Amino acid sequence: MKIRPFDKKIYLSSPTMHGEELEYVTEAYRTNWMSTVGENVNEVERIAAERADMKYAVALSCCTAALHLCVKLAGEKLYGRPRVACGALQGKHVFCSDMTFSATLNPVVYEGGIPVFIDTEAESWNMDPIALEKAFELYPDVQLVVCAELYGFPGRIDLIKKICEEHGALLIEDAAEAMGARLNGKQCGSFGDYSAISYNGNKIITGSAGGCLLTNNIDDANKARKWSTQARENAPWYQHEEIGYNYRMSNVVAGVVRGQYPHLEEHIAQKKAVYERYKEGLKNLPIRMNPITHGTEPNYWLSAFVIDKDAMCKQVRDDTKAFYISESGKTCPTEILETLAKYNVEGRPIWKPMHMQPLYRMHEFITRQGSGRAKTNAYIPVVEDVGADIFERGCCLPSDNKMTPEQQDIIIDIIRSCFD
Ligand SMILES: *Cc1c(COP(=O)(O)O)cnc(C)c1O
Repeated sequence: MKIRPFDKKIYLSSPTMHGEELEYVTEAYRTNWMSTVGENVNEVERIAAERADMKYAVALSCCTAALHLCVKLAGEKLYGRPRVACGALQGKHVFCSDMTFSATLNPVVYEGGIPVFIDTEAESWNMDPIALEKAFELYPDVQLVVCAELYGFPGRIDLIKKICEEHGALLIEDAAEAMGARLNGKQCGSFGDYSAISYNGNKIITGSAGGCLLTNNIDDANKARKWSTQARENAPWYQHEEIGYNYRMSNVVAGVVRGQYPHLEEHIAQKKAVYERYKEGLKNLPIRMNPITHGTEPNYWLSAFVIDKDAMCKQVRDDTKAFYISESGKTCPTEILETLAKYNVEGRPIWKPMHMQPLYRMHEFITRQGSGRAKTNAYIPVVEDVGADIFERGCCLPSDNKMTPEQQDIIIDIIRSCFD
């Protein structure tokens, strides 16, 4: 192929600044609100809540911190305040998304909980409601579910919520990737009893870092805000009754976030155009783009696809390396990602499912068929493991909203060449 590598790297998803960000940051500097207090933080909380159709937002240093405080709020609501140095979920099982970033559920473990992973449905690439029902049959005592939306393409979070309600369980929604996406007209981030959004540098809008906890309960919002600022009691000195954290968002970071919010819809439109160009440009290849579930309006954060089973060349992955055997007419994610990298283009494998991670390999994993684990410590593949299959055959495509149509056409040619 006579394509030359790009001079400037094409990223998976990089920050896109507009100018207003700098004005709010400068304002913070000029007025000397260079701390975790100030107008930008207040405004981010107001705007974030409004955009997500939730009553309250708490601005924090990152989405992982937001998820941690979600887990603490849920844990205390369900099981009461723990003794000092004891997690709020000590020894409790929690149903968690399986094919997601580890930050979705690591906070469950920070609080002593035990994640039980729920398989993914092929139709949406998100948590499978049928597997979740199965999980409640097997573990009727579970009272908490943590569910993430994948790549900004919501699955059946409405059904997940309904199942939680039927079983008296609380729902934490990790909408880190799905800000601005909707299901039946309802904003992602508004389904959970507690939800979290992210302003990490590669998300749909960014503060360089940052996140918000979202809730409709004012007492919970106030509690999270107090915990995030070292849990000081109302007293003339530093008085403490509970464990605190240094999780508050900086007013400088908040300035960037505040300047980004007016551009959320614009970023979504650009990401949608990227997705649609891939769909068109790759249309007669043996692949399937990430699915758009009926009734959803994705934010199209990352475009991705799975390669049809019979178009996969042989690919083997161990814990740290991948190998494949090139074959005419066939390819695999490893070959595609290596080829893209050769041209200075960044792709990414699908999130490796949590039940396949060394960290969580011994945890229960539940599919539509039931328990995916024999009662041993080994990982024994189950009959149908949807997450493992999407991981094996899928990859995320460069989805930067600053990529031009001309650049994307070249990337499409590079991908097509892998199938030759
Ligand atoms: C990015 C991401 C997070 C973590 O967000 P931070 O703001 O970087 O802490 C959590 N969950 C998912 C699904 C993510 O994609």
